[in-house]
Amino acid sequence: MSADKLNSKSGLIEAIEYFSDPLVCLETVAKAKWPNGPECPKCSGKKLSFLKTRLMWTCLACRKQFSVKVGTIFEDSPVQLNKWLTAMWLVGNCKNGVSSYEIARDLGVTQATGWFMLHRIRYAMHTGSINKMTGTVEADETFIGGKARFMHAHKREEKIKGRGPMGKAIVFGLLERETGKVRTHHVPTRRKGDLQAIVRENVEPKAALYTDALKSYDGLDEYTHKVVDHAETYVDGVVHTNRMENFWSLLKRSIKGTYVSVEPFHLFRYLDEQSFRYNERHSTDAERFQKILGCVSGKRLTYARVKG
Ligand SMILES: [Zn+2]
Repeated sequence: MSADKLNSKSGLIEAIEYFSDPLVCLETVAKAKWPNGPECPKCSGKKLSFLKTRLMWTCLACRKQFSVKVGTIFEDSPVQLNKWLTAMWLVGNCKNGVSSYEIARDLGVTQATGWFMLHRIRYAMHTGSINKMTGTVEADETFIGGKARFMHAHKREEKIKGRGPMGKAIVFGLLERETGKVRTHHVPTRRKGDLQAIVRENVEPKAALYTDALKSYDGLDEYTHKVVDHAETYVDGVVHTNRMENFWSLLKRSIKGTYVSVEPFHLFRYLDEQSFRYNERHSTDAERFQKILGCVSGKRLTYARVKG
């Protein structure tokens, strides 16, 4: 996307205007998907002819016809790209998230389609980093939800798996102080095995690890592990998990305010969405949009997989 069109000052109005041209949408996605120019998904051929009336390419080597949606989260979706890109802009930039009802109303699609689009966009926002966290890391757990008690008994039994006290879902989070970035995980229990495996997967040994006094953290000896003593918070100002707790309150506000209920099965995607916006909080709207756009390729989520 040319920087002179969408820049640091661009807001929703500019974005919608920009996306109103189907050819511009196609070029925007094509540039993110194929930085070195379009290529055939079948034979990787680069000699193509472009059919402007159908917005499709034909590979001159193998005759395969394909659109810019191939191999992306937009694949097999009849929804036009301008709606997809606008939805991505909204999800990336609305602080507390967007509901499927808002997407449906704003973009003129059904609520079911809006819901599906949101899930695909969240999937793109799932940016699992391969680098381990270093320096000082805050670790903390929280409980989300707890509506399971209103459900029918057999349904409740099904839902209650992966939940902690009172049918609440347990979320475990890590925050790297130096970068201010979080990683969140929906965990089945707060037991040692569940929490320590995630710490070891995500945090470099020798890092300073600050946690609460939960026994599950005992034995993380490869870290400089310090336990937050809430009675002494004002004595030692460094050992705390305040930033992780701040993230929890943002997460809960978002889930409460925007989403009526979150099924435990889908919780990790909401976590991805909220973690993404938090980690990109110092970026501009256009930068956040661009970041999601950079993640749409190679990720395709079918309806069956969304539904589980
Ligand atoms: Zn080909």
